Amino acid sequence: MQKLLCVGLIFWSLTSWGQELFHRDFVKMGSSFTISVVSASAREAETAIDLGVAEIDRIEQLISSWNPSSYTAEINRQAGKRPVVVPLELYELIQRAIAISRLCDGAFDISYASMDALWTFKGEEIQRPSKKIVAAAVANIGFDNVLLDEEKQTVFLKKEGMKIGFGAIGKGYAADRVKALLMKEGVVGGIVNASGDMAVWGKQPNGQSWEVGIINPMNNQKVFAHFSLDNNAVVTSGDYERFLYLEGERYGHIIDPRTGYPSKGVISCTVFAPKAELADALATALYVMGVEKGIAFIDQIPNVSAIMIDEKGEIHASKNIEIDEET
Ligand code: AMP
Ligand code: MG
Repeated sequence: MQKLLCVGLIFWSLTSWGQELFHRDFVKMGSSFTISVVSASAREAETAIDLGVAEIDRIEQLISSWNPSSYTAEINRQAGKRPVVVPLELYELIQRAIAISRLCDGAFDISYASMDALWTFKGEEIQRPSKKIVAAAVANIGFDNVLLDEEKQTVFLKKEGMKIGFGAIGKGYAADRVKALLMKEGVVGGIVNASGDMAVWGKQPNGQSWEVGIINPMNNQKVFAHFSLDNNAVVTSGDYERFLYLEGERYGHIIDPRTGYPSKGVISCTVFAPKAELADALATALYVMGVEKGIAFIDQIPNVSAIMIDEKGEIHASKNIEIDEET
């Protein structure tokens, strides 16, 4: 299912240059993906897309905490016990994730994952968990307790019960990696869409830039802003599919690491950035930060912009974004 109901892509497929747009939809990492490539032939496109699919499989094997044979699962199993030697790629991903956590003061934090056992986001009313249980799980969150040793290339979760998870950054990372791989393979243009986390490069077959329209899900799906994308990324975090009710109030699936409770008040955050990985992590962080802090935060980061929609359906944008009138 598309997480990103609010981003629609507009394509033109045939061109005067003999290039066409080919795409494939599939499910990986528990999410729907579409890889679209500009190519001279279906055969060439299929070969490129096959490479992209294999790359996503490889990344899933590295970062999925649900797969018991992944390095991430091993890091979690050894929490409080011993450091785990990991491949450089995973080490560097964790290093960057921690750097983003510092930037947003922990609103995005891969060590949120001890909370996964506490909340079920099935769109239903749930029983409030006891304060004691929530407090115990919150005590296991904290990126400062994810200890990295550069020389030994190890990751150590300092406290027993700690866990890391890449739910908020993994799809963005996968989109960036597939894009880089296909560019290296000579694919002139395309879009990797990981359930709404999009990395794009090159142009459409007709030579025009890719275009994205943003829709307010609260406002009859009306497009209120169009953006051209060339060699960058756009990611949306939304709660359309994963939410719960607590004493009648709706909460989204992103956890506030400070309280251990799902966050409230925002229904959608879209972030534009040079890389999908950064956009993905920041979209999650904005959810936790809320509109006022979130927009002020984005306004301080170069080459990054954001649109947030609050629970009343009101649209808020960072300073470098222009929204169409009469939304
Ligand atoms: P996204 O859709 O990118 O916003 O990611 C949401 C997913 O990230 C959730 O389903 C969790 O797996 C994970 N997550 C939830 N809260 C946080 C948080 N505060 N920091 C990092 N990851 C989170
Ligand atoms: Mg995210």
